[in-house]
Amino acid sequence: MGIARRRFDCLVIGAGGGGLRAALQLAQEDLHVAVVSKVFPTRSHTVAAQGGINAALGNALPDNWHWHMYDTVKGSDYLGDQDAIEYMCRVAPRLVIELEHYGVPFTRLDNGRIYQRAFGGQSQNFGGDQAARTCPAADRTGHALLHTLYQQNMRAQTHFFDEYFAIDLLRDEEGFVVGALVLDIESGEPLVIEAKTTLLATGGACRIFRTSSNAMINTGDGIGMALRAGLPAQDMEFVQFHPTGIAGYGMLISEGVRGEGGYLVNKDGERFMERYAPKALDLASRDVVSRSIAIELREGRGCGPDGDHVLLKVDHLGADLIKKRLPGIRESAMHFAGTDPCEVPIPVAPTAHYSMGGIPTNLHGQVVAPERHGPEEAVPGLYAAGECACVSVHGANRLGGNSLLDIIVFGRAAGEHMAEYIRENPYNRPVADEAVDRAMQGLSRWDRKGDGISVADMYDRMSRVMEQNCSVFRTEEVMAEGVKRILELEEQLEDVRLSDHSRTFNTARIEALELGNLMEVAVATMLSAAARTESRGAHSHVDYPDRDDKNWLKHTLYLKDGHVLDYKPVRMRPLSVEAFPPKERVY
Ligand SMILES: Cc1cc2nc3c(=O)[nH]c(=O)nc-3n(C[C@H](O)[C@H](O)[C@H](O)COP(=O)(O)OP(=O)(O)OC[C@H]3O[C@@H](n4cnc5c(N)ncnc54)[C@H](O)[C@@H]3O)c2cc1C
Repeated sequence: MGIARRRFDCLVIGAGGGGLRAALQLAQEDLHVAVVSKVFPTRSHTVAAQGGINAALGNALPDNWHWHMYDTVKGSDYLGDQDAIEYMCRVAPRLVIELEHYGVPFTRLDNGRIYQRAFGGQSQNFGGDQAARTCPAADRTGHALLHTLYQQNMRAQTHFFDEYFAIDLLRDEEGFVVGALVLDIESGEPLVIEAKTTLLATGGACRIFRTSSNAMINTGDGIGMALRAGLPAQDMEFVQFHPTGIAGYGMLISEGVRGEGGYLVNKDGERFMERYAPKALDLASRDVVSRSIAIELREGRGCGPDGDHVLLKVDHLGADLIKKRLPGIRESAMHFAGTDPCEVPIPVAPTAHYSMGGIPTNLHGQVVAPERHGPEEAVPGLYAAGECACVSVHGANRLGGNSLLDIIVFGRAAGEHMAEYIRENPYNRPVADEAVDRAMQGLSRWDRKGDGISVADMYDRMSRVMEQNCSVFRTEEVMAEGVKRILELEEQLEDVRLSDHSRTFNTARIEALELGNLMEVAVATMLSAAARTESRGAHSHVDYPDRDDKNWLKHTLYLKDGHVLDYKPVRMRPLSVEAFPPKERVY
């Protein structure tokens, strides 16, 4: 019997903020939209975003989008594409107000306007005083945003496939993406979804690291799918380590805590950020603060019996403020660290948090696969948005509050362009059985039982290699060893077996499929990191401590076939304003 098929105008893979914002745009254009998500939409990782979304509204302190653009370019350590950054910062105020009108319950100032808090890397007047640009809904901004977008999609009659797992993209002979093969997790039945346009919005991949702030579901499936379809992954070496994960667990304590006045101390009670970032202190950019903590720990000034964390002090803010503005954080600290931040400081250490790299796209969310010697070409029918994409607005280091903005701005832009594409390409292209058969092999690959390495065991080995060989500080020797170890593990994937129980649950197959994707991302990350012989943003190369603009003002492109790397220049020219040329980055 053949595999069941359903036909839509658009397929959106992923129901986080990026996928839902795109789907809403499409559904409002009366297109027939399918959204596939491996978890119920409102459980997507966007729900966990705490601190807020950036927009130069100027409600709390003076602000304008041009300053926001400057901060983002500087924060990216000049690796961000300035046209995309200009676009994002310019439309931010309008799109945040639009979210408010959709129903996001933002925290308010006494005058009724949206409250704005200070976040790291934000300045007034191109590097002057601290700005306050982040719009929160208490410390549960992502929750508010995701539920609002879900409800708006229900109203617009978007069609949801909840708890369906996308396995692989389907392409035709001419290279058009014509849909995807998905799996109904409950029944284990495969389904072909045919579509004129497909959007990858599968979120981040920080689960490649053992200690991570990310949900278990952030396994880089979209990046795996793109790589298997012969497409590149861009700037994969840039992984953000958030300075304040709960020590030993990795769960996030938002930068909003420092924005509200919390600060870090070492075992001597010293406010050590004074030494590393005399002006911005605890609100320096995330890469800077994470490195500072790593140095404190390495030099023996860490707290606790193992000296493996520092302390985040908040009690001086007063219980009233903590309970009103940071209730979720207090709850997390009490639950995981067993301490009430109203009374004692929170033990924290850096945790893998955000994937700056991803599937390369242009401003419209079209996936671009640069030919070696030609112009960048859009892959017909394929789009990507959100954390799985690299547009690139975050370059080598993302600023807090800019990711929720990224998913809204480029989710919407992708939706707009997909609608336009469909006006010009109004018919579904045929999906050949051969393409479906090929994708099915990706599934049957994991139907192996018997003796071998378990999925959990292989995950443990992989995530340890990434933690040991590709962390906050990297050296040539450690990364060369990492490359060797991760490529060995990739080969050993063939030996991974599902448990030998007479009945294997579908969840075990899903975990195996996720492991396959995690390995694709880990290999891409390790190889890209080993290739970049400079230090820039989150990539801190001990043997090459300086930024090298002469040789490395370019994006890395990793291709799965032959494990090769290619490069393309950073787009330094904004759309309508003067460029910000690279200069020394101090906070
Ligand atoms: C703890 C935490 C706090 C954060 N706080 C902030 C903040 O305050 N401000 C900020 O700007 N950013 C913050 N970020 C970052 C930001 O939240 C994320 O980058 C952003 O929400 C990602 O959105 P997304 O739509 O790209 O993906 P996600 O929200 O991760 O959604 C991914 C979707 O893809 C689906 N999916 C994945 N693989 C498959 C598959 N194979 N088949 C079917 N479906 C699939 C999932 O089911 C899910 O629906 C935070 C991140 C974390 C982890």
